[in-house]
Amino acid sequence: MARDHGFHPIRVKRVIQETADTRTYVLDTAFDYEAGQFMTFKVCGTLRSYSMSSSPTTDTEVMTTVKRVPGGLVSNWMHDHLSPGDLVEATLPAGVFCLRENGAPLVAFCGGSGVTPVLSLVKTALATTDRRVRLLTADRDADAVIFGPVLDGLAERYPGRFELRRHLDTDGGFLTEPQIREFAGNAPGTDFYVCGPDPFMDLVERVLLDGGTDPSQILIERFGLPAAEPAEQPAEAEGTITIVLGGKKHTVPQHSGETLLQSARRAGLSPPFSCEAGNCATCIAQVTEGAARMQINNALEDDEIADGWVLTCQGEPTTPDITVVYED
Ligand SMILES: Cc1cc2nc3c(=O)[nH]c(=O)nc-3n(C[C@H](O)[C@H](O)[C@H](O)COP(=O)(O)OP(=O)(O)OC[C@H]3O[C@@H](n4cnc5c(N)ncnc54)[C@H](O)[C@@H]3O)c2cc1C
Repeated sequence: MARDHGFHPIRVKRVIQETADTRTYVLDTAFDYEAGQFMTFKVCGTLRSYSMSSSPTTDTEVMTTVKRVPGGLVSNWMHDHLSPGDLVEATLPAGVFCLRENGAPLVAFCGGSGVTPVLSLVKTALATTDRRVRLLTADRDADAVIFGPVLDGLAERYPGRFELRRHLDTDGGFLTEPQIREFAGNAPGTDFYVCGPDPFMDLVERVLLDGGTDPSQILIERFGLPAAEPAEQPAEAEGTITIVLGGKKHTVPQHSGETLLQSARRAGLSPPFSCEAGNCATCIAQVTEGAARMQINNALEDDEIADGWVLTCQGEPTTPDITVVYED
């Protein structure tokens, strides 16, 4: 049996309007979680992950913060329909965008709603360690800044240990490479945390790598975009994948380089998935015949892998025929 990756009903206790397009949902749950983790919510049959903005050590309540995405299905539904007293379904917290126990200085770069897990990390690191913490937030304009007063409060409370720098695009455009380089500094062994829009994260990552930062010191949480529909059918099938989904067995062709999830979706099935980055474990299934290799695994423990569990968004078959069974 895999760890509990299933969905649980959780009641919304309160809703806090943070900015015009961002709300925090205070959840009535006592789930254990680590700073930087997220839960995957099932809303109108669609799965989306949202990080905790609360800290497991300094906040008594569990909170997740959701920004409206123009045209987005779930974020808009939550803003328009989710009220105190309502129930939502969510997985247990998961994810590896977490603090390391190394005492190293921590430098974080976040853009827009990327501040959500970063706030949890910053609050926790300040309260539970003596690490030096520096945070650069980037936002379109002053009205878009999320958690401004909370971060200002932390800067006042931890002078000398917490440095906060704000970047607003309205003051002269996007963050530049020299600004990133300068803020990153050169303290040896620094852990860098990055979360925000993809181009923002790509830029910060490139500047850090060009500056000689070891990739293992850069932790990135990718919020991602919805998965594109699978591309057109490749020429030749190279084996078969038997998929047991909702108690029904389907046999679909296997094509080289395709993940189990892609093969299933190409065949018209609708298996569960969310992040498609090997983080959230929403897409897990158990291999009962044959074998698969995961490109990225940030969610499953060794004993789960030994029991045949696989992240289907990352698993490519290594045997011509394979059977995978999704949990009911
Ligand atoms: C680990 C993780 C943690 C996250 N944490 C947070 C968090 O704390 N806070 C937060 O606000 N978000 C977070 N996210 C992002 C969140 O999960 C959603 O991706 C986000 O809210 C958008 O979902 P949506 O359903 O509203 O939009 P979607 O319906 O997914 O649409 C998103 C955008 O894509 C466009 N789009 C939709 N379909 C297509 C298509 N076929 N082709 C082209 N464009 C399309 C839409 O118009 C819209 O602009 C996190 C994501 C991950 C993976």
